Amino acid sequence: MTESSIQLKTRGELQAMRAAGLVLARAIVAGRAVVAPGVSTMDVNDAVAAVIADAGATSNFLHYGARGSDPGFPATICASVNSEIVHGIPSTSSMLAPGDLLSIDAGCILDGWHADSAVSVHVGQAPSMAEVDLIAACEVAMWAGIAAARPDGRLGDVSWAIQNSVEQSARGDGRRYGSVSGYGGHGIGTAMHMAPFVPNQGKRGKGPRLIPGMALAVEPMITLGRPATKELGDGWTVVTRDGSRAAHVEHSIAITEDGVSVLTAMDAGAAGLAQFGIIPVSLD
Ligand code: MG
Ligand code: MG
Repeated sequence: MTESSIQLKTRGELQAMRAAGLVLARAIVAGRAVVAPGVSTMDVNDAVAAVIADAGATSNFLHYGARGSDPGFPATICASVNSEIVHGIPSTSSMLAPGDLLSIDAGCILDGWHADSAVSVHVGQAPSMAEVDLIAACEVAMWAGIAAARPDGRLGDVSWAIQNSVEQSARGDGRRYGSVSGYGGHGIGTAMHMAPFVPNQGKRGKGPRLIPGMALAVEPMITLGRPATKELGDGWTVVTRDGSRAAHVEHSIAITEDGVSVLTAMDAGAAGLAQFGIIPVSLD
C-alpha cells in the first residue's frame, strides 16, 4: 500500500463529505433516540433511514455487496446486539431487552460522497460496570486513533494509538479486552470502502503517509473476552467465538493541512479530541 493508491480530495470535496457526514450524524442521533426495551432493531433502522431520506441522501449499506440475484445487505443500518460485533441484520422480530448492548452502524451518500459512522449504546441501564467500561474503552480508543491522524504522520500511528489505548484501558479498568483484528477501518470518499485498510493494531511510523485530502473511517471493535470472531450462516453477522459482548464505534475523518476534522461528528470532534489536547479543523 502506497500513498498514491489513496484517493485525495480537494477542500471543496472534503466539505461535500462533511455535508454527508452531518446528515449521518443526525441520522444516528435519531436512531439512538428510539433505542429502548421492547423496540425492535428494525425500528432503529427505520428511524435512521427516515433522516437519510429526508435529507435527500441515500443509504450505502442497503444492497451493499449486491451481485446478480443476490440483493446484498438488506437494511440501512447494521444492528449488532451483545455478542454480535458488526454487520448484524436488523429485524422486526429482534426486540431489544433491558441490559442489551447495541451497536448501530450506518452510512449515507450525499452528492456522491460517502459517510460511515457507528455508536455502541446500552438498552436501558447497563447490566454491569464491565459493559460501561467496554463502551468507554472502545470510544477512547477511537478518539486516540483520530488524535494520532496528523498530516505527514503515518497510518501506523493511528493503528498503534488504537491498540495502545485499548491496552491502557484494560490496565486501568483491571480487565482483559479482546482487540478484534481482521475487521477495521478504511479509506472513504466516492465509495464507502476504499484503500487503505485501517487496522486496529499496528506500528508507529509505518504504513502510508497521511496526506491532506485523505479521508478515513476509524473503527475499533473490542470484546469483553477473547478477540476471535466467526461469521454466522446469514453471511453477514460477525460474532465473538466465546460469546462475550462486543462494542464497535466509528467516525469518518478528514486529514487537512491544518489537522484532523471529524466529518461524522456534529462538533467536528471537538469534545472527543479535547482529552488529547487537539482542536479539530472545521470544514463547515
Ligand atoms: Mg460503519
Ligand atoms: Mg466502516
